[in-house]
Amino acid sequence: MVTRIAIIGGGPAGYEAALVAVQLGAEVTLVDRDGVGGMCVLADCVPSKTFIATSEAMTTLSHADRVGVHGEGTVSVQVAEVHARVKALALAQSNDIAANLVRHGVSILNGPARLLPGRKVQVGSQTIAADVVLLATGASPRVVSGADPDGERILDWRHLYDLKELPTHLVVVGSGVTGAEFASAYLAMGCQVTLVSSRDRVLPSEDPDAAEQLQQVFVRNGMRVLRGRAAGVELQEGGVLVKLVDGSTVAASHCLMTVGSVPNTTDLGLEEAGVQVDAGGFIKVDRVSRTTADGVYAAGDVTGVLMLASVAAMQGRIAMWHALGEAVAPLRLATVSANVFTDPEVASVGVTQKQVDDGLIAATSIKLPLATNARAKMQGLTDGFVKLFCRPGSGSILGGVVVAPRASELILSVSLAVQHGLTADQFAHTFSIYPSLSGSLTEAARQLMLHEA
Ligand SMILES: Cc1cc2nc3c(=O)[nH]c(=O)nc-3n(C[C@H](O)[C@H](O)[C@H](O)COP(=O)(O)OP(=O)(O)OC[C@H]3O[C@@H](n4cnc5c(N)ncnc54)[C@H](O)[C@@H]3O)c2cc1C
Repeated sequence: MVTRIAIIGGGPAGYEAALVAVQLGAEVTLVDRDGVGGMCVLADCVPSKTFIATSEAMTTLSHADRVGVHGEGTVSVQVAEVHARVKALALAQSNDIAANLVRHGVSILNGPARLLPGRKVQVGSQTIAADVVLLATGASPRVVSGADPDGERILDWRHLYDLKELPTHLVVVGSGVTGAEFASAYLAMGCQVTLVSSRDRVLPSEDPDAAEQLQQVFVRNGMRVLRGRAAGVELQEGGVLVKLVDGSTVAASHCLMTVGSVPNTTDLGLEEAGVQVDAGGFIKVDRVSRTTADGVYAAGDVTGVLMLASVAAMQGRIAMWHALGEAVAPLRLATVSANVFTDPEVASVGVTQKQVDDGLIAATSIKLPLATNARAKMQGLTDGFVKLFCRPGSGSILGGVVVAPRASELILSVSLAVQHGLTADQFAHTFSIYPSLSGSLTEAARQLMLHEA
């Protein structure tokens, strides 16, 4: 008998699940109200990384003098061209994903969908009966009362690509990953940037050494980093006035609010169908993506488990493997690698410095600055480091942090080590290229071996 699967939401959680399910012989209907690829492809991850590719080009140009390249005249960002490129790329990616789904036999419906009791899904006047339902509706920018975006001066990240000009002075409220990435990108593009951080330092959830290093680079490059909490944002002639809780104000041309996301569960029919949510409104799931309602699974940002596209996709696949009776390993967050696309990038995997400092995990660590790395010197890099954690005794690599340009590409070797329980000894005996930034990782492993000896 063919299993009928209905998926609400066509982001990474939904579309990756759909692909797995059709490959396992299920009949799959995927419903999305905005477009296949979800907000990941159309508004969040893909557009932001495309935009950041432009800021990277600016960074490369601005550092060229370090290696003896000097230009005449000015270099400028053509914002209309950049935004058009961002939108075109997102749309093309969405179309590619949709075509791939259709090629594999997934039926796609457009429109808002709602879960009905008894594993049914309603789309407009149509009711789809299913054996299994996957909720993958994602999340939306959180709005702070008194700082409601108008889309022109007070913005969330989905408004940015409609701006006609680059902000002359952008205040970014929120110094988490999204805030730090946009603050870094706009700074590199030549905008004046003020970053308002409600915590002691930027990137409060990341490795403290990495966050400190990044903040130093931000400040050195001219960013103003303010400690404070936004009480509200007002429109004023030609700009905005950002009011902080301590009574101080910052006048700027634009304000970008990056204060987290809320799950898309409004009018989804959860309560009637017996799907419970947690205190934050996120759908409660176990490690194989089951909700509290029989036959109803949830995956991705709507579960709030870890708001990354890679995790959303894995949760979606796990849901389908489980629902369709395949062997499945429950979600393991300890091996998820993550990256902050700032200049420099901050990539991490496995145990964190906080877990070690709090005594939750016994680990030996080593941190090597890139400044002593031969390739870094050749490239004129002065910032960045690699850090590795290993288990005392066995020497298994438990985690690591890389702060460097393209750290997102360098972290994979550490992820492999963490995933497969490689030891510092095994890592150290792996050939790295000379000269290369990854040579600092094998060097760090060698130094961990010395610790262990
Ligand atoms: C600025 C930004 C940058 C990011 N960068 C990265 C990154 O570099 N790497 C990374 O791993 N992650 C990144 N993320 C996180 C990543 O975008 C999310 O984790 C990912 O989008 C989650 O996928 P999802 O499938 O759960 O939801 P989404 O991608 O949000 O898709 C959900 C879809 O469901 C649709 N939907 C909602 N309700 C309904 C309904 N009732 N009926 C029908 N359809 C509905 C929505 O319209 C949407 O299309 C970033 C996030 C932001 C905000």
